[in-house]
Amino acid sequence: MNAVVSLFPKAQGDTLPAQRERVRELLRRRGAVLVAHYYVDGELQDLALQTGGCVADSLEMARFGRDHPARLLVVAGVRFMGETAKILSPDKRVLMPELEATCSLDLGCPVGPFSKLCDEHPDRTVVVYANTSAAVKARADWMVTSSCALAIVSHLKERGEKVLWAPDRHLGHYIQEQTGADMLLWDATCIVHDEFKSVELESLRREHPRAKVLVHPESPAGVIRQADRVGSTTALLRAVVDMDADEFIVATDAGLFHRMRQLAPGKTLIEAPTAGASATCKSCAHCPWMAMNGLAQLERCLRDDVGAIELDEGVIVRARTCIDRMLDFTARHPSAVAPAPSGFVPGLGAA
Ligand code: SF4
Repeated sequence: MNAVVSLFPKAQGDTLPAQRERVRELLRRRGAVLVAHYYVDGELQDLALQTGGCVADSLEMARFGRDHPARLLVVAGVRFMGETAKILSPDKRVLMPELEATCSLDLGCPVGPFSKLCDEHPDRTVVVYANTSAAVKARADWMVTSSCALAIVSHLKERGEKVLWAPDRHLGHYIQEQTGADMLLWDATCIVHDEFKSVELESLRREHPRAKVLVHPESPAGVIRQADRVGSTTALLRAVVDMDADEFIVATDAGLFHRMRQLAPGKTLIEAPTAGASATCKSCAHCPWMAMNGLAQLERCLRDDVGAIELDEGVIVRARTCIDRMLDFTARHPSAVAPAPSGFVPGLGAA
């Protein structure tokens, strides 16, 4: 039998409670706040909430980091989230437990080819998803997250604007269908959501006829079409809490189940299928880059002050414009954004 070797072994005699305590103490001593995404390990999510930080989707993470008085933000998520925090808080120090944690959407949209496409279509308003590099955001007119993308593209359509959308083609296609906007789509996908299988989902629904189907719009169209609710991570969390059902089939990263179980104990959550005839070796419902965040990496970045996000000042200034546009829009149209679940205080979790 093959031995399983941890990439991040604990010191001999070390225990999880001792490691947790050291991280708490480091956060306290350094005056830092932990901002975590719903997809990271439940251990980090709990720690963030217990230490006055936040567990949220990327829109709320961005707002929380900007508005929090701490001078040191520790962002547990993937690279673009740390970059967004730095763009919104350039005077703060932003550390990430794992700088190599990236995203297939970010990787799939390099700034060179993206800028070329923008240059070829000067008549289009450039809208990019949050899951992009700072350099790509610096070339865009608007940034959106899955919480507000529909509302912002609808708004642009009402103003008669044509859109160049990047990078997620499934989300772009969904928004195009919903709004009827004229959208030119970049072709990249999330390696997690792209793996959900529509045929296998149909079989699973037959096995669980009472289950409601919740789908993140980064999923393929055939999966989205079967949804009782399509939405951002926050919208799906709210659906589990508020919908009148006891059983849910959920098509998003399995990391979200931790928070769903905390906010809706007693409800049954079933992972939407990623396996099946067309499954590949990467098929699973968990992001490999989100999974790179752990207590050991968090401790190391706080203790050794490593993992700092550094960005060119010019990029920060240009990228900030498109993020501020989104934040201004969502502040002026709060109903356009999926509200947090009942009993949930933004930034603090369940009340
Ligand atoms: S789950 Fe998908 S969209 Fe989210 S960080 Fe991972 S690869 Fe990117």
